[in-house]
This record gives sequence, structure tokens and C-alpha cells, in this order.
Amino acid sequence: MDTMNDKLTIALTKGRILQETLPLLARAGIASLEDISTSRKLVFATNRPDVQLVVLRGTDVPTYVRYGAADMGIVGKDILLEQGADGLYEPLDLGIARCRLMTAARVGWKSNGARIRVATKFVNITRDYFAQQGIHADLIKLYGALELAPIMHLADVIVDIVDTGNTLRANGMEPLEQIAAISSRLVVNKAAMRSRYAAITRIIADLTAAVGESANATP
Ligand code: AMP
Repeated sequence: MDTMNDKLTIALTKGRILQETLPLLARAGIASLEDISTSRKLVFATNRPDVQLVVLRGTDVPTYVRYGAADMGIVGKDILLEQGADGLYEPLDLGIARCRLMTAARVGWKSNGARIRVATKFVNITRDYFAQQGIHADLIKLYGALELAPIMHLADVIVDIVDTGNTLRANGMEPLEQIAAISSRLVVNKAAMRSRYAAITRIIADLTAAVGESANATP
């Protein structure tokens, strides 16, 4: 399989974001030739011979785009805040996969003013947030199932993505403070923006129009 070619490559985030990305891309005139959701492939040709898609974990999308292995990417703002946006332009808020990055704790938990233990995947964001609040927080990095940490007394507080709040409620927890509003963003490699200016600005324009259509369709 030859993927080292001149095609413009867009890196997509798999999972929940992908389900909302594909209709948006289709409205922008880019559609995979194969059903991405059911395929085990990672690289997909599209109806546009000059554009291909790759499907990655969200945390890997900025890396592919930063190194120029992909020209553009679609990724959650949570990941951009956590990793920093060096080498990337962020020209467009796609308005999809909206959620909030929040602190949360067991229902009724109150800080006693002493150091608190905070479990999160987002250690950089969390360190900055508690430093700004002047709160001493000991950070514990976890990779998943954050809601378990307070139940098992591993941590007092978690910092996690909240959408409906159902996951927190199901585990006896409640959201406390919002750290950031999150949605998916379009990112572009800075060098590619110069070397492939016409192709990239066309896609940004098509996606901008598609985002506008969805905004108008929302009641
Ligand atoms: P919820 O129960 O609806 O509040 O969803 C919470 C869980 O779903 C979180 O622990 C996240 O892992 C995941 N989640 C919800 N929305 C998103 C999103 N837009 N991007 C990434 N993960 C999400």
C-alpha cells in the first residue's frame, strides 16, 4: 500500500468525534470511498483524488500534524490545551463534540483547605488550573475510568470531560468548576499552510461553510 504520495492528508480522531466529523466533511465535499466506521483500515481514499484521510487516537493527531505527516487534523480542544499548539495553526472551531472540562468530586465532598489529591489524564491543564487558584494539588496521572479514583480513595477530585454528567452521577459524583469549554478544532501544519496554500485554504473555506450550515440548522 503506497501512502507516501502527494495527497493532502487529513488526520481524524476516532471514536465519538469521528461520528460527528464524517457528516461535516461530507457537507464540505469530502467523503471516504469506504465506510470508515466499520473498516479496520487506517488510511482512506476519498471522492477527491487529492485528499486522503487517516484515523488516529485523538492524542496522536497533533503529533502527526506537527511533524507534517498529516497536513491537517481534527482534534478536541482538550488535547490541544493539554499538549500545546506548537507548529500548528488552529483556524476553525468545528463546533462538534462539545463538552466541558471540569473538576468533579464525590457528592457533598468539601475541601478542608489542606492539599488535595487530583486524578486526571490532563496533568498540564490541571497543574496550571490549580496553580492559578493558589491551591496546592498533588496530581495523579491516570489513563481512564477517572470516576473510580475518588470511590477508591485514590484522589479527592478528578479533572475530566463532562458531557451529560451521567457518568459522574452514576458513580456518586458531581461536577464542581468548569475549567474550559471544549469542542473539536481544525488544525493545520504551519509549513503545509505555506507550501499547499491553495488546497488547504479551499478545504478551510468548505469546512467553514459546512459549520455555518450546521449552526443554522440548530434550533
Ligand atoms: P457524560 O456521561 O455524558 O458526561 O460523558 C462523560 C464521558 O464521556 C467522559 O468521561 C469522556 O471520556 C467521554 N466524553 C464525552 N464527551 C466527549 C467528547 N466530546 N470528547 C471526548 N470524550 C468525551
